[in-house]
Amino acid sequence: MIDTKEKIWLSSPHMGGSEQDYVNEAFDTNWIAPLGPNVNAFEYAISEKLGDQVHVAALSSGTAAIHLGLQLLGVEHGDEVLCQSFTFSASANPIMYLGATPVFVDSEKDTWNMSPSLLRKAIENRIIEKGVPKAIIAVHLYGMPYKVEEIQRIAKEYNIPVLEDSAEALGSTYMKRACGTFGDIGVLSFNGNKIITTSGGGALVSRNKAYTDRAIFLATQARDDAPHYQHSNVGYNYRMSNVLAGIGRGQMEVLQDRVDSRRGNFEFYQNKLASLKEIEFLHEADGFYSNRWLSCILTPSFEIRERIRLALLDENIESRPLWKPLHLQPIFNEYKKFVDGTSESLFSRGLCLPSGSNLSLSDLERVTDCIKKVLL
Ligand SMILES: *Cc1c(COP(=O)(O)O)cnc(C)c1O
Repeated sequence: MIDTKEKIWLSSPHMGGSEQDYVNEAFDTNWIAPLGPNVNAFEYAISEKLGDQVHVAALSSGTAAIHLGLQLLGVEHGDEVLCQSFTFSASANPIMYLGATPVFVDSEKDTWNMSPSLLRKAIENRIIEKGVPKAIIAVHLYGMPYKVEEIQRIAKEYNIPVLEDSAEALGSTYMKRACGTFGDIGVLSFNGNKIITTSGGGALVSRNKAYTDRAIFLATQARDDAPHYQHSNVGYNYRMSNVLAGIGRGQMEVLQDRVDSRRGNFEFYQNKLASLKEIEFLHEADGFYSNRWLSCILTPSFEIRERIRLALLDENIESRPLWKPLHLQPIFNEYKKFVDGTSESLFSRGLCLPSGSNLSLSDLERVTDCIKKVLL
């Protein structure tokens, strides 16, 4: 028998309609460069959305934004950077690009993000053994804000800058303020699987214009002000292209719809699976508003998680275990870590369900029907 079950993806691009017009505009006006009207308009739209007079530098990826961001915060060879362990590897790879050393901090159970108490423990330990860490990378994982107030208070207490990895959290807010705006520097991603996409892209955002100006300078090969090409800094080719920014402009027009749809997916799963005692969801505490980039479930055990994942796969439905903590990754497992088992347990028991804003009701029903069949 031929398998005719249509594939359901975890999170696929979802165009709004006007993206192609902006891309055509770039062609019609011959702005096919890593600067131009679409880049300016895209940055303006992001800044309007984030509020708080935040400045925006559109870049080629979220990873590039983290790389430049750490440099702007003064991270150099041999420095230590505290990084949330429960995240995608791109949060920490730029630490390695700079020859700095990651120190991993585990998550707490309320938001699945950086534990304030373990952060404090890590800082106190590193001050004694090595010196004050150069920066903190805190992540709003899966769109859920981290405990902003607690983390920022500790960071201020020890005068350590925060780089906020908001790659998964565009459209999320904490106490009604946009995620990405709490740290010294915030990072966004417009990769293909994120809540909105430019097919590939990212942004560095900050209330401090000196940071975004410097990011744009470094991202465009660090040319000094001279009639010839003169360089007194190592530069990068990290600026976003005007063609891709056209996609971003169109996507910004539908961002809130995308957040609403993804939150709708989460509610659907929560309601349909409510009768299954084995399934847990991550709740929003007061003041926390998640874009629900990915809808995640927690099961009682690795075995049950795998049974669900494989049953979905059998139905041609893509799902994905929660992020493997970085302190357990082969490339990072030799580095210092301050952990209590929280992210390890989330990793072994958790699963991301299909979460695209373009899923139909029948797609969502196929997912929940399949999970129910496994557990009933
Ligand atoms: C996607 C992602 C990044 C990297 O963004 P790219 O645009 O893909 O380079 C960084 N951190 C987290 C948490 C991400 O999910």
